[in-house]
Amino acid sequence: MSRLAERIYRTEAVVLRHRPYGEADLILTLYTPHYGKLSAMAKGVRRPASKRRGHLELFTRAKVMLARGRTFEQVTDAQTLDANRGLRGEDLDGQEQVGIAYYLAELLDKTTEEGQENRAIWDLLTSSLRALSDGINPAIVARHYELRLLGYLGYQPGLFDCAGCGEPLQPVTNAYSVELGGVLCPECRSQDPAAEPLSVNALKLLRLLARERPETVARLRFGPALATEVEGVLRQSIRRIIERDLESPAVLRSLRGE
Ligand SMILES: [Zn+2]
Repeated sequence: MSRLAERIYRTEAVVLRHRPYGEADLILTLYTPHYGKLSAMAKGVRRPASKRRGHLELFTRAKVMLARGRTFEQVTDAQTLDANRGLRGEDLDGQEQVGIAYYLAELLDKTTEEGQENRAIWDLLTSSLRALSDGINPAIVARHYELRLLGYLGYQPGLFDCAGCGEPLQPVTNAYSVELGGVLCPECRSQDPAAEPLSVNALKLLRLLARERPETVARLRFGPALATEVEGVLRQSIRRIIERDLESPAVLRSLRGE
C-alpha cells in the first residue's frame, strides 16, 4: 500500500460540533461507529463555493473520507447519508427539536473520550437524531437518550431491585439515590440522606424508557409534573458522572496543561 493510502480511511460520522478555524476552515467534532469521538479539520469549507460544506452540517450523518494528520484528521471527502432535515431550524416548529439536538450532542461530547469505540452509543445517537427530525416528542427523546447513555457509559440506574437491600421494588413511593446509582425502598431510604422521593409513576416511566423506543413512549399521555420528576432524576445522574469525569486524573492533568 502507498503511504497515502495507509493514511486514508472511510467512516460514517455524525457532526456533533463545529467551530471556525482560520479564514475558511472548520474544526469538527465527529462521532463515528468504530472510532468513537474524533476531531477533524475540514479545509476551505467556509468558502461559499465549497461543495463539502452541505455534507458537514451539524447533526448530519455522512460518509466521510479522512486522512490521518499530525494534530487533526483531515476531511478529504463527505457525502450525506441522512441530513436530518427536521433539525435544520428553518421553521419555528423545529426550534425545540434543534435545542434538544444540541443538548444530545453536547452531552455526548462531555461524557466520552476520543477514540473509544461504542457501537451502542452510535446507534443511540443516530436513532435519537432521526426521531427528533421526524418530530417525535423532544422531551421523550431526551429522557430516553439520557437513560440509555447512562447505561452505555456503565452507570445504568437500578430500576427493579432496591440499591440497598436488593429486594424487588414495590409499587409505593421509593427514593432515587444518585450516589448509589438506583432506587431505594422505603426501609433503605435513610442509607442516602440526599435520596429524593420517587413516585410510582416516575419509576414506571423510567422502566418504560429503559425498555422501549422513544416513539412508543411518546404515544402515552402523562402530565408535566411526571415529566419534570423524571427529568430531575436523570439530570442529577448525568451531572454526577460529568463531575466524576472532571475529578478524574486525566482531566486534572489536562487542566494543569501536562
Ligand atoms: Zn431496600
